[in-house]
Amino acid sequence: QLAEELTFSKKNVYEAADDEKMQKIFDYAEGYKAFLNAAKTEREAVRRGVAMAEAEGFRAYTLGEKLQPGDCRYYNNRDKNLFLFRVGEENLEEDGIRILAAHIDSPRLDLKQNPLYEDSGMGFLKTHYYGGIKKYQWTAIPLALHGVVVTADGKNVDVVIGEDPADPVFYVNDLLPHLAQEQMARPMASAIPGESLNILVGGIPFADDKADNKIKLNVLRILNEKYGICEEDFISAELCAVPAFPARDIGFDRAMIGAYGHDDRVCAYPEITAILAAKETKHTVMSILADKEEIGSIGVTGMQNCLLRDMIDLISTARGACPAVVRAHSMCLSADVNAAFDPNFPEVYERRNSAMISCGTTMSKFTGSRGKSGTSDASAEFVGKVRRIFAENGVMWQTSELGKVDCGGGGTVAMFLANMNIDTVDLGVPVISMHAPYEVVSKADLYTTHEAFVAFLK
Ligand code: MN
Ligand code: MN
Repeated sequence: QLAEELTFSKKNVYEAADDEKMQKIFDYAEGYKAFLNAAKTEREAVRRGVAMAEAEGFRAYTLGEKLQPGDCRYYNNRDKNLFLFRVGEENLEEDGIRILAAHIDSPRLDLKQNPLYEDSGMGFLKTHYYGGIKKYQWTAIPLALHGVVVTADGKNVDVVIGEDPADPVFYVNDLLPHLAQEQMARPMASAIPGESLNILVGGIPFADDKADNKIKLNVLRILNEKYGICEEDFISAELCAVPAFPARDIGFDRAMIGAYGHDDRVCAYPEITAILAAKETKHTVMSILADKEEIGSIGVTGMQNCLLRDMIDLISTARGACPAVVRAHSMCLSADVNAAFDPNFPEVYERRNSAMISCGTTMSKFTGSRGKSGTSDASAEFVGKVRRIFAENGVMWQTSELGKVDCGGGGTVAMFLANMNIDTVDLGVPVISMHAPYEVVSKADLYTTHEAFVAFLK
């Protein structure tokens, strides 16, 4: 009895769930898988987010627009960064804004601006990888091309090839083991050099005796017929090679989901569903889907952009409130994934302070590396407040750090909100094989993240 009163331990969400809860967990996962398959890039995630919001009565916000309690708006920043918000009845200066902040960009292979060439009977596209990848994982798997090409006359051409089962896919070559003696002896980080991540895109020469680079020419001919683009248009293009795999259930019992880009769409999706569900809230609430987190959150669509401050300024002044006072009373869940303890690699985790899969959404008071460097470290008071919200609403959650103290580290967007005088703590889904082309999460952790966000916005 004393142990029950005084000790604390993690509980498996599946073990605690009744039939009704199990049904909710599994139903919610279906919506998420559909979102994943439709949103493999930040642009596609924004498009999907806008469609979901519009279906619930949200409409586009114009910077500087007058706002009334009950207004539901979205602000689409350059098709790569999305703000969703509801204006509440509560006094903004006393109540602040309740903010959820996730990111919708994921590691991938971006095309270079002069990508196309041919060599030895094969056409290739040069790439420059985006975000922290283990390069060897991106060879010898089917890849799809997603993105946009802006043509010389300013037209936007959307490209998605490799998702429809009838489409061709693309590929990065790897070396056969028979000839890989030297490669296999190299450290993993240098086994696949960045400049060998070239995407195989063709092999039939254009039928003309006089032309040079006939395979390249034939690829350009096909692109021109299908999209109306020419080689120079690659300069003003954002084309990304992403894994062509769809999201699938993992395991005999379907407890988990395998997919590309769980980091961080597994938090972005619950952010959208939570704010759409927050119809009764009296608070002013906001869900942010940010771009560029994987490369430092900088630029016009990253979380360090002044647009975040502008949004808070504009919402505050539209309600006659002082932005500095509103920020001081706002609070934020920085919604990002964390590493799930993996018994196949126990040496890098500290078991007592790791996120355990299926034990619920996980809170990290701090992130960072080498002695908490680079973390905003939430206050005990704020963690206490969030804890009470979860307890009052029956949210199953856990606490974690990434791994062992000296094994590495990482960061999230938390510090950029905290730097604006907004109390912020990290909360999100534990992931197995984070940043791999196919990552794994538990449906139970996904659903409890949605529940946590709903409780926070309530
Ligand atoms: Mn992330
Ligand atoms: Mn990441």
